[in-house]
Amino acid sequence: MIPVNEPLIAPNAIPYVTDCLKTGWISSSGIYIDKFETAFAKYLDVSFATTTTNGTTALHLALAAISLGPGDEIIIPDLTIASCGLAAVYVGATPVFVDVDPATGNINPRLIEKAITKRTKAIMVVHLYGHPADMDPIMAIARKHKLIVIEDAAEAHGALYKGKKVGGIGDIGCFSFYGNKIVTTGEGGMVVTNHKPYYERAKVLKDLAHSPKRRFYHEEVGYNFRMTNMQAALGLAQLERIETYIHIKLRMKKQYHEQLSSVSSLILPSQALWAKSVYWMYAVLVSKNSPIDRDTLRMKLKEKGIDTRDYFIPLHRQPVFKNVLTSKKISYPVSDDLSKRGLYLPSGLAITDKQIKTVTDTIKQMLP
Ligand SMILES: *Cc1c(COP(=O)(O)O)cnc(C)c1O
Repeated sequence: MIPVNEPLIAPNAIPYVTDCLKTGWISSSGIYIDKFETAFAKYLDVSFATTTTNGTTALHLALAAISLGPGDEIIIPDLTIASCGLAAVYVGATPVFVDVDPATGNINPRLIEKAITKRTKAIMVVHLYGHPADMDPIMAIARKHKLIVIEDAAEAHGALYKGKKVGGIGDIGCFSFYGNKIVTTGEGGMVVTNHKPYYERAKVLKDLAHSPKRRFYHEEVGYNFRMTNMQAALGLAQLERIETYIHIKLRMKKQYHEQLSSVSSLILPSQALWAKSVYWMYAVLVSKNSPIDRDTLRMKLKEKGIDTRDYFIPLHRQPVFKNVLTSKKISYPVSDDLSKRGLYLPSGLAITDKQIKTVTDTIKQMLP
């Protein structure tokens, strides 16, 4: 089976992680936490970065750090992982889903203002499959309405919007280091920001919110979202190789592009003029006049030993959010459509040229 994702582990991961084991610094204190956070902040060109246990807790922590809570609404793109909506629910806020742009699958800036109410406090932006969202109009709307912008850059480490790294453009950025992400720690996450108060609040909240006056005394609800030194050691080694990893993704994209350009039944991923996508996943759409639909294509590829994944299921369709939907009348034609026709091909960092060729040859046998 050609897996949809297989990670690459940097050679330095072995000595760094071994160092934690040999010295006994296996928990959430130790030099690698600090090194990883510092290196990540430097890479993104932001002032502050703090590690978390995963990308979902990074989002949860970010929303807690900006004090989003009951009565507040947060605008979230409809086509994303459940974590985005769940983070809002965890803090007691109301997620308001907004339809996406047909070209990138990212939140459609032109639909944001219509979704703003007196209760709206924040906008969450997701850089889907490695392609940056259109940040300038989003930031302009946010400034105009005094909203906080949270970026979910879990799929877009190193992607550029007008030359600036995503995750560091909004008020607070979140990353995941799950095994299929461009930088991995196995499981892990990061919250980044240029605002010191958000950073300091995140640091306190992720460590049980001990009172500053007295340790083991608690005046508010904190969490244990602490990453281990071992994970940070792995993350540091992976981060040292990020340029190589991005290069691998771009090379993969070039090969898929070239080999699939003649397949008229597939719409290949495009890149906005202002964007440098990192192509976290090579995501295609099955065209409306394709002789076989997306589900059939996925099944037939699986029979041939090629694993692929459907696009996310829109958040407005998730039973878990049924009770929090503010309006049942809003429709989401674009995210519904992309979700039905979208598929991503094997895109792991360990993918070989030969595997890409097998994938594209097999697709060409199935689709005109
Ligand atoms: C992976 C991912 C997350 C969640 O990260 P976990 O580390 O798996 O919790 C959040 N948002 C997006 C867009 C993701 O792709």
